[in-house]
Amino acid sequence: MAERDLDLAALFHEVAGRAAAFRGAIGDGPQRPLRDYREMVEVFAEKTPETGLAAEAVIADLMDKAAAGLHATTGPRFFGWVIGASHPVGVAADWLTSAWGQNAGNHQAAPAAAAAESVAASWLLDLLGLPADCSVGFVTGATVANLVCLAAARSAVLQRAGWDVETDGLFGAPPIHVVIGDDAHTTVFAALQVLGLGHDRVIRVPTDEMGRVTVEGFTAAISGCDGPTIAVLQAGQLNTGAFDPFAELIALAHARGAWVHVDGAFGLWARACPSLAGLAEGAEQADSWATDGHKWLQTPYDSGYAIVRDARAHRKAMTASASYLPETAEGERDPSHFVPELSRRARGFATWAMIRHLGREGIVEMVERHCRLARQMADGLRNEAGIAILNEVFLNQVLVRFGADRPVEEADALTRAVIARMQADGTCFAGGARWRGQWVMRISIIGWATTAQDIGASVAAIRAAWRACSNP
Ligand SMILES: *Cc1c(COP(=O)(O)O)cnc(C)c1O
Repeated sequence: MAERDLDLAALFHEVAGRAAAFRGAIGDGPQRPLRDYREMVEVFAEKTPETGLAAEAVIADLMDKAAAGLHATTGPRFFGWVIGASHPVGVAADWLTSAWGQNAGNHQAAPAAAAAESVAASWLLDLLGLPADCSVGFVTGATVANLVCLAAARSAVLQRAGWDVETDGLFGAPPIHVVIGDDAHTTVFAALQVLGLGHDRVIRVPTDEMGRVTVEGFTAAISGCDGPTIAVLQAGQLNTGAFDPFAELIALAHARGAWVHVDGAFGLWARACPSLAGLAEGAEQADSWATDGHKWLQTPYDSGYAIVRDARAHRKAMTASASYLPETAEGERDPSHFVPELSRRARGFATWAMIRHLGREGIVEMVERHCRLARQMADGLRNEAGIAILNEVFLNQVLVRFGADRPVEEADALTRAVIARMQADGTCFAGGARWRGQWVMRISIIGWATTAQDIGASVAAIRAAWRACSNP
C-alpha cells in the first residue's frame, strides 16, 4: 500500500464531499452529539490492528464511526463554552497546511509558512490595535499563549533583578510577586503552576459583581509588592464578558515596575471594533497579551497567539539553539523562537486565510453582530416571567437564571433542569456554570454563522424548556 498506488484525488475528493455534507447539514440536526464518550469508546474499540487497511476503507470507517459522537460546535445554534466555529475558509487553509506538511519550526525548512506567519502577525497587531513591533508566537490556544507570555514576564522581571532564569532556573532566584484577579481564567493559574510560580502563591485581587478587578483591591495588592512583580489582567471574563479597567490598573502596576499581562482569549477582539474598543481601552499599555484564533477569528483548532511587547524577552524565554539549526539573520523570523515547540504545525496559513477572507470589515461585522445577538438573546429571555439575566450584556456572553424569584436551591435545580431539557431538545446548545454561588445557563454567541433567526429559534426553545420545567 505504497503512497504512489493511492488514488489521491479520489481519497481527498471523498473526504471533501463528506465534510461538505456534514457542514451543510449542521444546522438541521440536533445541536449536540447523539452518543456520549462511553458509547463512542465502544464504537472505536478494537484490538491493535496487526495488518493494514486500504486508505479509502480507513477514512470511510473513521467517518462512519465518528459521526454519532460529533458535537455541533460549528453549528449556528451552538452556544456552549466559548468556542469558535471553524470557518470553511480556515478549514480549507488548514487542509492545505496538512497536505503541504511543512515543518514550520524555522524559515529555511518552511519559507512560505514562516513568511505567512510574519505577515499574519503584523495584521493581528494592526487589527488588535497593539504596537507594531511586538513579537507574536503562533501557539495552540490561549492556554499556551498565557504560558508563553508569562514565561517572558518571568524572564524579564528576574533579569531586571539581576537573575537569569533561563540559565540558572528558579532555585535561589529573587521571589516574584504575582497579582491576579479573583475571576481570572483557570488556564492562567495552570500556566503559573507550570512556570514554578504556583497557582496558590499569588495575591488574588477582589473583583466586582461582573468579575472585574477593583481598583481599590488592585491598589492595595500592588502597593505591597517590592521587586519582581507580574500583574495579570483580563479582557473578556469567561462568564460575563467583562473587562478589567486597564488604563488605571496598568498605570498603577507600571508605577511599581510590574510586568502586566492581559488574558484576552476572546475579549481582546473587541479592540478590532470601533463600537466596542472602548471596553478594552488602555489594554495596549500592557506588556503581553494572549488571545485565540480559534475563538473569535474562527480559525480551526488549534490556534492562539502569544503577543509580547519586549520581543527579546519573548525570544529569550522560548529559544532553543543547536548547531544544526539555521541562524536567524536580521529581518528573518523563525517561528519556533516564540513558542515552546520546535517541530510545529504551520498555523500561520489558517490565520492568514481568515484575516484575508474577512478583512477588517468582516471581522468588525461579525464581532458586532455577535454582541448584538447576545442582547437579542438576553432581551428575548428576560421577557418571560421567571427568567433573569445575571450579567450586563457588554459583549457576547449571557448568564441566565431560571426561577430567580424562588429560593436559591430551587432555582439552582430548575436552572440545571432547564439546561438538560434544552440540550435534549437539541434546537440549540448551551452549558451551565456556577456564578457567584448560583447555577446559571451560560450562553456564548461566537459562531460565524449565527443569525437573528437562530437567536429567535433558540429563545423560543429555551423559553419552552423553562415552561416545561416550571410547570411539570
Ligand atoms: C478560552 C479561554 C482561555 C483558554 O484558551 P484555550 O484556547 O482554550 O487554550 C483562557 N482565557 C480565557 C478568558 C478564555 O476564554
